[in-house]
Amino acid sequence: NAPEAIFVQTNGCFAYVNPAALRLFGVDSASQLIGQPVMERFHPDFRDIVRERIHLLNDMCEEVPNIEEIYLRLDGTPFNVEVSAVPITYDGLNGSLVFFRDITERKQVERALIRAKMVSDEANRSKTEFLANTSHELKTPLNSIIGFSELMLAGELGNISEQQKKYIGTILESGYLLLNIINRILDISSINYGRMDLSYVKFNLCDAIQDTCAMMQAAANRKSIELIVDIDPQINEINADIIKFKEVVYNLVDNSVKFTPYGGFVIITATQNESHVKISVADNGIGIAKENIERIFDPFYQVDSSTTRRYSGTGLGLALINQLVKMHGGNIWVESEPGKGSTFTFTIPIDYGEQQIRMLQVSEH
Ligand code: ADP
Repeated sequence: NAPEAIFVQTNGCFAYVNPAALRLFGVDSASQLIGQPVMERFHPDFRDIVRERIHLLNDMCEEVPNIEEIYLRLDGTPFNVEVSAVPITYDGLNGSLVFFRDITERKQVERALIRAKMVSDEANRSKTEFLANTSHELKTPLNSIIGFSELMLAGELGNISEQQKKYIGTILESGYLLLNIINRILDISSINYGRMDLSYVKFNLCDAIQDTCAMMQAAANRKSIELIVDIDPQINEINADIIKFKEVVYNLVDNSVKFTPYGGFVIITATQNESHVKISVADNGIGIAKENIERIFDPFYQVDSSTTRRYSGTGLGLALINQLVKMHGGNIWVESEPGKGSTFTFTIPIDYGEQQIRMLQVSEH
């Protein structure tokens, strides 16, 4: 009466079958199976492997591993089982004592999960491909919008009035903004595609940060925000992709200036340990609520996504720089308190290439 299905095999035939096994085989009485070849109840795909196991068990081999296979009911319908077996002497004959469990439902769930994963991977791939293709299509007309606006504004297509100048200036600004968004989408999709390469060069970290902050100085001045740079003088050169590095710093400082009210401050600090540099951008701006912190690195996520939102932007900046930092073998995180301010910190190896060579050497030994 064991709840587990059990049978005994000797000479390749059923010698004993318990009630739970009878139920699974769809058989009314044990006499329908006793003396019948066990092989008939195994799916053809598994007969070779089962023959091998029976062989081992009849030789009194103690260890055969548990396996998942397919059994057949008396009417021929297959069902998935998990089987364990040990050698036994039954009625003076060497044979095997077999325990099995119906796992059809578990297998169905497993198959459904695998299918769902494939569908979602495919959807994700098509989405990335779609974004990449559309972005390219959008860039072509945008180039003429920007190009001709620039020509008109420069007066190369004839004189224009002050009012026309103002409107064309707005067209141009919007054009640049749109181009920026499209480039970010393209960057994110090429990283997802594995198509973005890093160009490593050795560069002076202090200069790179100062250059980037200089680009933000005018925007900070407009809001009377103090931009403070504090870099550990020990840090000299790092080996990384300088353009991508500047992009990370630029995006963080840009956000800090954007989300900090008039008269606030933004402090950029850089320190290093023996393997990594750590760069922090801290502000005393609006801060981020705990429940939003997890999501701000997701593409298109903005804490305030209402149509009347006060701050411009796309929600793509942090998603992009998160990936850029990870590509460098670094990490990025944020600490923040609403109303008090935010500190974004990222680390990157001082020399990622060299570090990888060292790791390779360690693993070789
Ligand atoms: P966006 O283009 O909207 O700035 P990001 O991906 O750069 O996109 O940022 C996503 C969201 O994270 C922002 O919309 C904002 O809600 C929040 N955020 C980012 N940086 C800061 C910051 N320094 N202070 C407060 N909120 C921030």
